[in-house]
Amino acid sequence: MLDQQAFFYYPLLHPTKMLTPMKSPLRIAVQKSGRLQEESLKLLKESGLHFNNGKDQLKTQADNFPVELLFLRDDDIPQYIEDRVADAGIVGENVFREKQKNNKLIQRLGFAKCRLSIAVPRTENYSGAQWLQNKNIATSYPNIVQQFLNDRGVKAGIHEISGSVEIAPGIGLADAICDIVSSGSTLMSNGLKEAETIMESEAVLVATPELESSKKEILDELLFRVQAVQSAKNNKYILMNCPNEAIAKITAVIPGMKSPTIMALGRPGWSSLHSVVDENDFWKKINQLKSLGAEGILVIPIEKMIA
Ligand code: ATP
Ligand code: ZN
Repeated sequence: MLDQQAFFYYPLLHPTKMLTPMKSPLRIAVQKSGRLQEESLKLLKESGLHFNNGKDQLKTQADNFPVELLFLRDDDIPQYIEDRVADAGIVGENVFREKQKNNKLIQRLGFAKCRLSIAVPRTENYSGAQWLQNKNIATSYPNIVQQFLNDRGVKAGIHEISGSVEIAPGIGLADAICDIVSSGSTLMSNGLKEAETIMESEAVLVATPELESSKKEILDELLFRVQAVQSAKNNKYILMNCPNEAIAKITAVIPGMKSPTIMALGRPGWSSLHSVVDENDFWKKINQLKSLGAEGILVIPIEKMIA
């Protein structure tokens, strides 16, 4: 007999009940090749989605979650979302901001971190955005650059080119460029220097603001999982032995999610204390714990963390 309940809603938390009628899957666009692809797929896998991503595949369906992945050129993803070919996607924040499509930023994802900067010939003395007045800037990000200039009341020409932006000043096409800078070595070999960062970027999950409610439920469930994966990455599980008289002070340093777990050790007067510590101030806290008398400190990665 069919499961009555599963008949009415997609069995999100019951992947084994897949024979019941399905609502249409959430279509998520990811980059088909490039710097975003590997981490995007890794995040989805860590969020519990099983799928095959064979080479040259255009799309694939997760076998345990109502999601279909579309493999597209990252720069096209915002347009596909606006056109409702995809419901959501993972792109660089730079692309999201540049394209100005009908997309909503749902969640910052913490990978593909980079910056968009103005670069000028090494010999120039860049004194601030005013330096750009009446100059020509070559970039693949005309909207972001225009916004930057508008905010500072600077008038400059923007020359849009789609690749190899850094050669533009050398061939007399522009006085400055605006592009993604990672190491700076590409700039250097083209006689340029980074003058000013105009935007910091990282991968973001974006979606159409017009999701129907069944797909919104799928997105919310995915988001819940993504956040659990992210907080796990930002935290470590920590165990240590400590003298009983230090427990109160140690608890103040690492309060954990609610409070630490404390268990008596076989050795009288000592306890084992377990808690969670934020990755960002990890080393500072370790030093505090040691000075409070903690010994035998073990630090363990957390796979998922649900507050
Ligand atoms: P194309 O689409 O033509 O292949 P692209 O620059 O758009 O080129 P990638 O180089 O794969 O594609 O970059 C995709 C995104 O990754 C960029 O939009 C940016 O958000 C991010 N990114 C770019 N360079 C770096 C970098 N050096 N380190 C980390 N993230 C980066
Ligand atoms: Zn691209």
